Amino acid sequence: MAWTLKADPMNSYLESLERGLRAGRFRGIGELFVNNTSSHPRGFPPTKYPADSPLVRRLLALSAKYAVPLSIHMDAEADSVAGLEALVATERSGVVIWAHCGTWAHAALIRRLLQQQPNLLCELSWRDAVHLAKVQRGRGAEITGFRTKLAEDWRELLEAFSDRFLVGTDADDLGQYKDIIDFYRKVLGQLSPEAAQRIGSGNAKRIFRLD
Ligand SMILES: [Zn+2]
Repeated sequence: MAWTLKADPMNSYLESLERGLRAGRFRGIGELFVNNTSSHPRGFPPTKYPADSPLVRRLLALSAKYAVPLSIHMDAEADSVAGLEALVATERSGVVIWAHCGTWAHAALIRRLLQQQPNLLCELSWRDAVHLAKVQRGRGAEITGFRTKLAEDWRELLEAFSDRFLVGTDADDLGQYKDIIDFYRKVLGQLSPEAAQRIGSGNAKRIFRLD
């Protein structure tokens, strides 16, 4: 009787991921759900894992090795934030994109993290007016106040760290995509042209190595 070794699904996932990275097929890793307890999409069960688990550390090592960013979806709960800080410190040449900027993380927290964690970037999908009404009611973490006017703490933050933010849409269809891009054109119009250019496209071109 011959024994066959059952393939470990996690190892085969990591192997196929690394094959794709080595062949240059992927420009990034993720988006990975680390903590979506209060921001999970309808129909998805909420999940929460340590942000600096051995698996995520391994993915960050791949980010460093192949110079691609690792995108993490993580609600800004204190233990998750501490885990994220521990994670990025393990591999400074890897880059983490915090999807949705933590969904409901406040400007002060983002400012502290960007100051202290040089390999962390923030992506702005779900911070737009189209999505805000659905998930952030009452959290007070909106980047804009009435309509599209940037909150002052966010305007200062985007300007001060304009090399660390990316526009994102997470749009479900082209109509929503257009609405969100229109929204961000108005938002970026409130920044200096240099900052708007970086956040609108320059940072993405650099991080994803797009020509
Ligand atoms: Zn997400």
